[in-house]
Amino acid sequence: MKVLVINCGSSSLKYQLIDSDTEDVLAKGLCERIGIDGRLVYQKAGCDKEITEAPMPTHKEAIQMVLDALTNEKTGAIKSLDEVDAIGHRVVHGGEKFASSALVTDEMIKAVEECSELAPLHNPANLIGIRVCSELMPGVPQVGVFDTAFHQTMPPKAYLYGLPIKYYKDYKVRRYGFHGTSHSYVSKRAVEFLGLDPANSKVIVCHLGNGSSISAVVNGKCIDTTMGLTPLEGLVMGTRSGNIDPAIMEYVAKKENLDLQGIMNVLNKKSGLLGMSGGVSSDMRDLEAAAEGDNKDARNALDVLAYDVLKFVGGYVAAMNGVDAIVFTAGIGENDGKVRAAVVKNLGYLGVTLDKEANKKRGEEVVISTPDSKVKVAVIPTNEELAICRDTVALVKK
Ligand code: ADP
Repeated sequence: MKVLVINCGSSSLKYQLIDSDTEDVLAKGLCERIGIDGRLVYQKAGCDKEITEAPMPTHKEAIQMVLDALTNEKTGAIKSLDEVDAIGHRVVHGGEKFASSALVTDEMIKAVEECSELAPLHNPANLIGIRVCSELMPGVPQVGVFDTAFHQTMPPKAYLYGLPIKYYKDYKVRRYGFHGTSHSYVSKRAVEFLGLDPANSKVIVCHLGNGSSISAVVNGKCIDTTMGLTPLEGLVMGTRSGNIDPAIMEYVAKKENLDLQGIMNVLNKKSGLLGMSGGVSSDMRDLEAAAEGDNKDARNALDVLAYDVLKFVGGYVAAMNGVDAIVFTAGIGENDGKVRAAVVKNLGYLGVTLDKEANKKRGEEVVISTPDSKVKVAVIPTNEELAICRDTVALVKK
């Protein structure tokens, strides 16, 4: 089957066309600046990227441009849209309604709409993608794959906050967790790659990217994760603060004369590595260069990230009463040997030693702990698009 995977953001859209039999990517790219001006990046497998600047007032024009590029006579990956057998959409928030991926139906769309209050920036954009595809490719089955679904197996002790229970019962305030498609894919792949027993395995996945989260997975089921009601909780991230004392919000609001929206903007966009480094960058490569140049704020920001990872890993080892494997993934986890080394340095209590040579590798599946280590530490590149493609095929074929 040929599956079009779509990840619709508020002003951008990423796509991949995947042959599900071979799992090869036939073409991929993105639309940027939707509603502003518009830019399409299209890359057919084995070819160079093509960039087209063209107006994209809404997601409809953006998706139409993607479909035109995919079927372009000269550079298209397919001859006609009839070759697209199914469409898989990333959907950010499935609330408590979705514990797994779901076929798009009227009821499904209604349920996703009901979750929109929990992710007002993301779910409406995801739904636009679904609606536009129904319009432009009527009759092609569509599936929604939720960032939150994998974490729905968490027990109440992991998902309830220390707040009046009314907030959970009436407003559904609880930990949901995000990056679930990545945590699910990487934890399964870790079990295969490391030869663990799927029915008796304890895995910690450290998804460290622009947004970062860690999850604890027992026998393939998530038992805890660091992100919460929203993707703001947990580790320090590129521009997000992660955990802070909530009272800081009132204190800083008064000092800086900010309202709630202003404070949320600071916590989401001006904090994290970017904020801690005094504005140097949210990107690890820039921060590492600055730290080498003796920028103390950049050095502290890097130290805080590694320390946060260590503390959550330690907490999850305790929560699972042990661990078989610790896995790094996403932009930082896959590429940044320095962060991995800084974390593994403190895993001596688990009988782990770093294989320094293996840790030099980037972006490939590799074990980075020495063979005599009691717990395996590995890098496994994530592939959320492939995971969405697999779920889509599984539901469409049913
Ligand atoms: P997103 O959460 O946006 O999907 P990614 O998972 O792509 O983010 O991660 C992006 C981050 O990965 C960058 O901001 C950068 O900090 C980090 N990164 C990417 N490549 C490297 C590299 N070669 N070395 C260190 N860090 C890297």
